[in-house]
Amino acid sequence: MTQPLQVPSGTRCRLSDFDPDEHEGLDRQTAEAETRRHCEALDELAYRLFAESRRSVVLVLQGIDTSGKDGTIRMVASGVSPQCLDVASFKAPSALELAHDFLWRVHARIPAHGRIGIFNRSHYEDVIVVRVRKLVPEQVWRARYAPINAFEKLLSDAGVTFVKCFLHISREEQRKRLADRLQDPTKQWKLGPADLDDRLLWDDFQAAYEDAISACNMPEAPWHIVPANRKWYRNLVVARLLRQALERLDPRFPPFDPTLIKRLD
Ligand code: AMP
Ligand code: MG
Repeated sequence: MTQPLQVPSGTRCRLSDFDPDEHEGLDRQTAEAETRRHCEALDELAYRLFAESRRSVVLVLQGIDTSGKDGTIRMVASGVSPQCLDVASFKAPSALELAHDFLWRVHARIPAHGRIGIFNRSHYEDVIVVRVRKLVPEQVWRARYAPINAFEKLLSDAGVTFVKCFLHISREEQRKRLADRLQDPTKQWKLGPADLDDRLLWDDFQAAYEDAISACNMPEAPWHIVPANRKWYRNLVVARLLRQALERLDPRFPPFDPTLIKRLD
């Protein structure tokens, strides 16, 4: 059964309602071919967004460690010209960032008109990891849902379209991926003790995600739960969502001044 990917605004998100193995019965080859077609369309749409230069798009990627944020970025970047793309990765905040409000560093990375920004993690870390690892008191992270909604509304009114994706993998799939990373010399560098500590907090992370997705899910900036146990299906879903968002924007080339033709010698 194909499940709805979008969490209806105003309803409670329960991640257990979404099957991380969902793949619409597709096989890998068919899905990859469809993803390539979406990427070709994306390249063209991104070029038009860039030419129009009035609006921008932010693809927010959230998900537990190993959920596939990096791989998803590689897929989008394989389709869209780097000229139109900005990638921002949000790590533990620096001293300078901590000396500002939590949205300061995020606002600074919102893509300029005409560009697509990909957020590898985002302002949602400030209500997820900080909550689970108890980096701030509850009243501090709880008070952040309202400013997140206000921030996304401000930006959406200013011509920023949000495509927010939660990459949903199962606990068992994460175990497999962590085991792979522990064995693979080209991936070992990605692992630190924090990743294994975070796995022990799996249920707390799921609960924090459910609360954040439920609280910050306005129609202007809805969440999508992306079944991500199969990397090729995850890529297909994200490519499709991004393409749909750009098609809805339908960016136009700016009007041409025909007097320019006469000016060529
Ligand atoms: P990675 O994405 O694997 O490079 O790891 C980045 C790390 O930075 C993750 O463990 C995140 O949870 C952490 N991180 C990102 N944003 C924040 C934040 N606002 N506060 C604390 N830790 C954060
Ligand atoms: Mg990591």
